[in-house]
Amino acid sequence: MSFDASKALVLFSGGQDSTTCLAWALDRYDLVETIGFDYGQRHVIEMDCRPRVLDALRSLKPDWDARLGEDHIINLGVLGEISDTALTRDVAIRMDDNGLPSTFVPGRNLIFLTFSAALAYRREIWHIIAGVCETDYSGYPDCRHETIKAMQQALALGMDEPFVIETPLMWIDKAATWKMAFDLGGQSLVDLIIEQTHTCYLGERGERHAWGYGCGECPSCDLRKNGWKTYGDAK
Ligand code: ZN
Repeated sequence: MSFDASKALVLFSGGQDSTTCLAWALDRYDLVETIGFDYGQRHVIEMDCRPRVLDALRSLKPDWDARLGEDHIINLGVLGEISDTALTRDVAIRMDDNGLPSTFVPGRNLIFLTFSAALAYRREIWHIIAGVCETDYSGYPDCRHETIKAMQQALALGMDEPFVIETPLMWIDKAATWKMAFDLGGQSLVDLIIEQTHTCYLGERGERHAWGYGCGECPSCDLRKNGWKTYGDAK
């Protein structure tokens, strides 16, 4: 085994965005591994969704089944210890004085990317794929293109390997993310995302909406729901 450009590591949470990114990677790379982080999320539902999404992707296309490699789960409980946010504590989701939602976990994506690169180094993978987006997002500064670009440079310099962080969703909105899933895997992939992925901040999976499961009210459900509507209207 050696480093080569035909392999990729996808940051995979079990949500809509990272599932779409995983399909995007399976379409382009010969070997695709996944990494997920357990950091004391308020609701572990998204962690439960991961293996189901992986199985469903394998059944969707034989090519994808052949390319999908190892799944790695990294325990980052320490992140829950140092951050006091609505994603890791049982407090209300609201806008803070700094204009950021209380779901913002400071440094989360920076830490995720650093651990991903450390794993990628060991697995001899240069291409790291993240579902971050600057177009339709909650204002998280660590989702911005400039942050990711700086991070890519820091990781490449710090580990002396030419890491590339790919962000296929960076410049598209949620409606276009639904469309991307359709283009990659047809209605079967769209259905898989509706049924199996989880995005809701509150971990609500009681009610099945046209766009999937969720409370329908939190910022994350809002984005998913509105994107679905715009996507449907444009069809
Ligand atoms: Zn929700």
